[in-house]
Amino acid sequence: MKTGDNAKRNPKLIFTSHLLSWLNQDSPPYRGKPTKASRMRILTLCSAIRDATVLLSAAVEAEPDRNYWEDPPAAVQEALEKIEGILSDYPMWPSVEISGKYGEGGLHFDHGTGPGRPQGEQTAAWGVVELAESRRLHLIRQCACGKWFLAKRNDQKACTPICRHKAYEQTDAYKAMRRKYMREYYALKNSGKVR
Ligand SMILES: [Zn+2]
Repeated sequence: MKTGDNAKRNPKLIFTSHLLSWLNQDSPPYRGKPTKASRMRILTLCSAIRDATVLLSAAVEAEPDRNYWEDPPAAVQEALEKIEGILSDYPMWPSVEISGKYGEGGLHFDHGTGPGRPQGEQTAAWGVVELAESRRLHLIRQCACGKWFLAKRNDQKACTPICRHKAYEQTDAYKAMRRKYMREYYALKNSGKVR
């Protein structure tokens, strides 16, 4: 199975699949490469959203009866303003055009983005928003092999079963088991019972 497949299969996560392919550097060339600065801005957006979420849920736990919508705590308000500040670099407006396919009279709905940042980064930012809205931002992660993927479960750390097995091979439990196996194998071999 290819990475990010669960995002591609889910039509609701269009920006998320752009975000993943951009991070994994397999976006179409017109979107631009994820430069170090671009990636840093996207990861800063992720952590700003995480910070706000953590602050808000701590506040709600401490003061469940407060009207947070009308009267947000100063720290939460500050965190929200930080997110808005970052998002203002990624304006988006709807557009509609005639589908470019011959023999088809369809309309194609799209969106335009602002001029300030590379297009790939802009779409990636909206992928982060999409994940935050569907409460899945904590599921985007980077595998030990370098690939970014959207985990299906909270405890999934590797992008594929192959990578999961590779990680397992690095564990002490696996190495101990392997040593025991090799010891027994050589003992058996030296006994002359196997050639
Ligand atoms: Zn991997």
